[in-house]
Amino acid sequence: MYDFGLRQALSGYRIAYRPQETNHCPGCGGTHWMIGRLTAECAFCATALPLIAGGASGNGVMRPRTLPALAA
Ligand SMILES: [Zn+2]
Repeated sequence: MYDFGLRQALSGYRIAYRPQETNHCPGCGGTHWMIGRLTAECAFCATALPLIAGGASGNGVMRPRTLPALAA
């Protein structure tokens, strides 16, 4: 997620969707989510949470930037 020069340890708890954990919805307590690229939305009440690592997953993120092989 974006840093904005803030240190998470100093800025307190930030509610966010954490992919490696069981996430309980702050609105209804549900645990079913529809996960997008930047947010996760509760399947029951539509509360949206930002992903803790939003924008850092998906196709093309880990693709190495190499030069194409030259045809000989
Ligand atoms: Zn909910």
